Amino acid sequence: MKKFVIDTSYLLRMKKHLNGEIYLPPEVLEEIKSTPAKLKLSSIDYSIKKPSIQYVKKIKETSTKLGAILSKADIAALALALELNAVLLTNDFTMQNIAKFLGIKYTGNKTIKKIIRWVFICPICGKEYHSPGECERCGVKLERRVSHHKNQK
Ligand SMILES: [Zn+2]
Repeated sequence: MKKFVIDTSYLLRMKKHLNGEIYLPPEVLEEIKSTPAKLKLSSIDYSIKKPSIQYVKKIKETSTKLGAILSKADIAALALALELNAVLLTNDFTMQNIAKFLGIKYTGNKTIKKIIRWVFICPICGKEYHSPGECERCGVKLERRVSHHKNQK
């Protein structure tokens, strides 16, 4: 049977019935409870599953590599989809980007076509960083930009 992992953004706009097993990590369930998507939970069958630590680690590493900013729930959903070889259902482009990079199958109401990589740049001296924060030279907050470097991946 086909497996799906759903995130909050997808559940909020879900219309069609999914033919397969639906999995949610506890972090996503928590997030859903605070949104109108919680009403949709009662209409679907799902299992709660926590992703294994090595998959969580893999997602965090990839997220750092691409300069993506993800919530705990985002990381858990991606890790679970990777672990279960499930289709990730999300409308979040940042999550789709990570999924594409790692070869996780995904779909959503809208999907990205190309992997995006972000860099963090100091607006004063122009030094590039791979993660958000402050410039070590100037002490100002870094700005996120889409990287146009060639040899991606
Ligand atoms: Zn600087």
